[in-house]
Amino acid sequence: MKDTLKRYFGYDCFRPLQEDIIRHILGGGDCLVLMPTGGGKSICYQIPALMMEGTAIVVSPLISLMKDQVETLRANGIPAAALNSNASEAINRDIAERALRGEYKLLYVSPERLLTELENGILRYTYGPEAQGALRISMIAIDEAHCISQWGHDFRPEYTQLGHLKSLFPNAPIAAFTATADKITKEDIVTQLAIQPDASGEVRIFVSSFDRPNLSLDVRRGYAAKDKMQYLLRLIGRHKGESGIVYCMSRKTTDAVAQKLSEHGVSAMAYHAGMSGAQRDMVQEAFVNDRIDVVCATIAFGMGIDKSNVRYVVHYNLPKSIENYYQEIGRGGRDGLPCETVLFYQVGDIITLRKFAEESGQEDINNEKLNRMQEYAESQICRRRILLNYFGETSDHDCCNCDVCNNPPKRFDGTILVQKALSAIRRTHEQIGFKLLIDILRGSSVQELLQHGFHQLKTYGCGRDVPFRDWQDYILQMLHLGYIEIDYKDNSHLKVTPQGDDVLYGRRQAQLAVISREDFTVKARRQAQRIQPVEGFHSKGLTEDKALFEHLRQLRLRLASEAGMPPYIVFSDRTLHLIATVQPTTLQSFSTISGVGAHKLETYGPTFVEEIRKYKEGAK
Ligand code: ADP
Ligand code: ZN
Repeated sequence: MKDTLKRYFGYDCFRPLQEDIIRHILGGGDCLVLMPTGGGKSICYQIPALMMEGTAIVVSPLISLMKDQVETLRANGIPAAALNSNASEAINRDIAERALRGEYKLLYVSPERLLTELENGILRYTYGPEAQGALRISMIAIDEAHCISQWGHDFRPEYTQLGHLKSLFPNAPIAAFTATADKITKEDIVTQLAIQPDASGEVRIFVSSFDRPNLSLDVRRGYAAKDKMQYLLRLIGRHKGESGIVYCMSRKTTDAVAQKLSEHGVSAMAYHAGMSGAQRDMVQEAFVNDRIDVVCATIAFGMGIDKSNVRYVVHYNLPKSIENYYQEIGRGGRDGLPCETVLFYQVGDIITLRKFAEESGQEDINNEKLNRMQEYAESQICRRRILLNYFGETSDHDCCNCDVCNNPPKRFDGTILVQKALSAIRRTHEQIGFKLLIDILRGSSVQELLQHGFHQLKTYGCGRDVPFRDWQDYILQMLHLGYIEIDYKDNSHLKVTPQGDDVLYGRRQAQLAVISREDFTVKARRQAQRIQPVEGFHSKGLTEDKALFEHLRQLRLRLASEAGMPPYIVFSDRTLHLIATVQPTTLQSFSTISGVGAHKLETYGPTFVEEIRKYKEGAK
């Protein structure tokens, strides 16, 4: 496994879980993998695909995403192709014929295409050594698997048909991948894809940490349009020549912001679903190929973009859910280098989004998701902790890379308050929601409470001295700190988590933020951003030569445009920084750099080594 990783991708070690997942798939097992964007999902099926006999089928919802993946694989010397309904039939037929001859290790297919192929297409899929004149399938990978669930934020009806795959190919391991799935969505994916349990009867779900420590998190409340623009310009100024995305709620805003930025000399373009397909492709290509710095976009942008060197992501308006928000900021810093994210939040955004939710036909779910997004933006708790707890990963420490951690609010020992609330939840056998909980704590005599006999509980009225809306705030804090969770499958009743138990039984203290209700004033403060060092960097005490980096960046741009591919596919920013640091002048030392596999060594090694040699001689 390690040899394959080094030979094809040039990496020296696996990230957490990658090795376990690969071994599991090679052993023939099904699984669901939850990993954040940029976490390294692709390698989890690409390595098994390379090591197994036959061709791996990869189902992916977006054509641009498939194209990017196929280009990346080919740049590493791996035979791969994509079948999609956008290409001409002649091209698809040619690919299908090659596939039948077993020429590809990976074949990417859109879900609707896979269905036509299965019914009457050019390919007759089958599995196993007995397969003749048919495609020999090694395994099936389902990317963006949350699209199968109505609970996910990106439901696609074509995906539901994928439920037949297991019965059609019972022997091919199915591995489903997603970067965003809450509890219900997870269960839904497993059921609908018929993911089979392993020998011990357990369905294998690999959940990697959702933490992206290289993304800094910042929320700016109550900025007027003029102040937002000022802030944005300053931020872009800090990132001269680097790529960034500005997400806006409306098409009109994307145009206006792009226009304003251009007036200030920033190379920016708008992107939204109201533009023609050709226009959108043009903007996307320009961004991906580093010809423009900034894209001002609606949520229509980004799903299919694998660009690894996005250095800042700004939300000009509040997103409609935490899933959307996390996925969008997740498009930054995929190479592991620091990326700055800023979210602007105004009450006006909430009003508009409520209206969208009402019109969506799924009002309850969407309003609930919006509530959680709003709470995040208003919270006084480490933002990363909130995000991680939201995705079910109980995190119990602050991150030091968000605006709350950098400007901590006053805190107090809230252990007793928290214990009162947790105890009330327990005594009702976890059968109450927010409002009833506060009613019990405050000793109210609303009918629902009396009906259930909750006025006889020991905790009844034990929090009378705390006003209703303060309790609301504290209970939200408890949710964000991971002491309780909302069970949507059980009427949104509150449940105590194991961490909550620690507080309840006195094993841990609970620090709550003092509630401050004064409105935030517009006060743009310089962020003291603390960025964690990136592993593998400056490891030998070397420092990067900035001029050499710039030099090599130009070289990369030239080689990329000659080959007709985006620069980051030639080498990622991360790899390029490493090269400018190590400054290898022999092929041997060039090959040791992370991100240089055998194929890239052969293709680009000589040119780069030569360039570095010349540069060093010139510098003497
Ligand atoms: P995802 O699909 O989970 O969003 P990718 O598979 O695109 O993420 O991986 C993100 C980046 O991390 C890519 O540039 C990839 O080459 C890199 N990467 C993945 N695994 C490793 C590894 N073991 N070592 C170094 N880089 C890796
Ligand atoms: Zn934090």
